[in-house]
Amino acid sequence: MTHQLSDAVASLSGVGPAKQKGLAGLGINTIADLLTYYPFRYDDLQVKDVNEIADQEKVTLKGTVASEPVLARFGRKKNRLNFRLLIEHDVYMVTFFNQPYLMKQITTGQPIAVYGKWDAKRSSLTGMKIINPNNADEAFGSIYPASKAVKQTTIRKLIKQAYDDYADAITDIMPAPLVDKYRLLPRRQMIHDMHFPPSQEASAAARRSATYEEFLLFQMQMQALKQEDAATNGIAIHYNNDRLKAFIKTLPFELTHAQKRVVNEICLDLKSPKHMNRLLQGDVGSGKTIVAAIVMYAAITAGYQAALMAPTEILAEQHANNLAKVFAATDVNVALLTGSTKPAARKTLLAALAAGEIDLLIGTHALIQEGVNYHRLGLVITDEQHRFGVNQRAAFRQKGGQPDALAMTATPIPRTLAITAYGEMDVSEIDELPAGRQPIQTTWVRSNQANNALDFVRQQINAGSQAYVVTPLIEESETLDVKNAEALSANLQDYFGPQIKVGLLHGRLKPEEKDAQMAAFKAGDIQVLVSTTVIEVGVDVKNATIMMIYDADRFGLAQLHQLRGRVGRGSKASFCILVADPKNQQGIERMQIMTQTTNGFILAQKDLELRGAGDVLGVKQSGMPEFKVGDPIADLTVLQVAQQDAHAIVQQPDWQAKPEYQALAQYLKVKLAMVGTLD
Ligand code: ADP
Ligand code: MG
Repeated sequence: MTHQLSDAVASLSGVGPAKQKGLAGLGINTIADLLTYYPFRYDDLQVKDVNEIADQEKVTLKGTVASEPVLARFGRKKNRLNFRLLIEHDVYMVTFFNQPYLMKQITTGQPIAVYGKWDAKRSSLTGMKIINPNNADEAFGSIYPASKAVKQTTIRKLIKQAYDDYADAITDIMPAPLVDKYRLLPRRQMIHDMHFPPSQEASAAARRSATYEEFLLFQMQMQALKQEDAATNGIAIHYNNDRLKAFIKTLPFELTHAQKRVVNEICLDLKSPKHMNRLLQGDVGSGKTIVAAIVMYAAITAGYQAALMAPTEILAEQHANNLAKVFAATDVNVALLTGSTKPAARKTLLAALAAGEIDLLIGTHALIQEGVNYHRLGLVITDEQHRFGVNQRAAFRQKGGQPDALAMTATPIPRTLAITAYGEMDVSEIDELPAGRQPIQTTWVRSNQANNALDFVRQQINAGSQAYVVTPLIEESETLDVKNAEALSANLQDYFGPQIKVGLLHGRLKPEEKDAQMAAFKAGDIQVLVSTTVIEVGVDVKNATIMMIYDADRFGLAQLHQLRGRVGRGSKASFCILVADPKNQQGIERMQIMTQTTNGFILAQKDLELRGAGDVLGVKQSGMPEFKVGDPIADLTVLQVAQQDAHAIVQQPDWQAKPEYQALAQYLKVKLAMVGTLD
């Protein structure tokens, strides 16, 4: 039997049902998925000059062993291996913890290269491993997003194995004219060099090709959807205008002008028989959710069902709770479906959904899974659109009907950029905040002043407020995040004493534990909520007036802005405290701009100017769609070029039949056929 990239990962030796399930959790189902599961960074094992190293940076130092290694034991089972390393005319201490066997590899007078973490104050290196700099495979350490079920070493091993077994099956999919034009690498080499780059240059070249490939495939899918939209009719949703007006009157506030304008724009789309494909942008707190509620209500008055999809369970639950209240006085039947909905409840719910008894279904990816059948789906809204893949829209289509689609994104990006990034959608903007909002005052302190900031937090809490304290997510190690967050909450509990209750929220908690923490915070039983960024979006507790963010320089501007948007939601004055010791000028500028403006559009613009690839935690929350390789901000021009190229391709009559596009057309066909079976 021939090897095919569409083979299941289970065809690799050593991948049983458990591992297969873990890999599926990372979005890896096939060999192709595994081969394009690229490292999100490389531990740079290139040798570095001592003068250029920042404190705590991971580096390789190369020199000569200048003293006999000394092994010291301490504690019951611990030991420390010390030796001096001579680099040019200076001597540095190198320490390995609990790796006594390295002794053999350290010989006085011999050259050596050590990879480890630099301590600038002590001018010493905490060694992690001894490397052989002449060995290409060792010169770069690929780091993959891992999970509890699938460890870093497992992913590396499987990718190596998959490459060895399947390299021959990797064929080119990029059209030859574009390969020539942009000097793209052959796909096999590109995949090889993404995982096992022989040099920094090779790695950069591979990433360049992979970025273009990813963007072109994305834009081709967008064009395909667009062509389908043009070729078929959508539905004309004839809503009941009187009922809609009456419903708006029941809201506890007057809509802003901007909200009224976008409601009108969306309602016009609903009435029209053409497919609605619209992006709704608005800064945090601008009131997108209520706009969503109004237009969903409109669709429901016309006898259609509406679906609202959110990226996380916490968000979906919160929407469900809020909307249940908003619709309490109406006959709208609201239901929630997530991954943790119990099988029995799910079964009942799905039957009611198929029978048309549920008007509004709120949930996560669970909404587009197999077996979820709608009676008469008319409108689909996705919250935090950038967190979803390209396929989610196509997946809703396969649920039947031709539902109108509205995507909401909380971080506004410039209109032209939005159109490129989201494949030529129509764009509505809420460019106004509800009246009576207090501005959020933002300060930046260095970590040695954090205690002063905490004293301020204590005062505010004593005056009746509540605070969020956020620590960053470290992508490669969920365990470390949890440890960080746990340690911080314990420290804060110590610091504040027993009168103030400190809670803890992180991704490892069970859904019901998360709920319990959130509920306690909402109820005011907890005054300080320590969290990893799981609270980043949408959470709404009006009494919370302080957002304190540790290691704030590890976040992008857009993400900081999102976090800050969690406070200032009531009428009390609110504060955002950034704790950070930025290591470079760019980091300092990011902290400064945060203290100067709360305008999301200005921040988005600044983000574009300031961002270099790889120095912040991904593009989450940037308002741009998330890609695996390409960075839609840093590589924006590539995204734009790919859009033009995709457009030019589909303009050619019968392009699928041309030899240069066959591989691409085939690839897209297979990809589209798999939609809906993936999630
Ligand atoms: P977004 O989703 O855009 O971040 P939300 O829809 O969560 O914003 O709205 C933020 C808060 O403002 C909510 O508590 C909501 O009830 C309230 N709100 C929305 N629109 C208005 C308005 N026109 N006037 C006053 N408050 C509003
Ligand atoms: Mg919202």
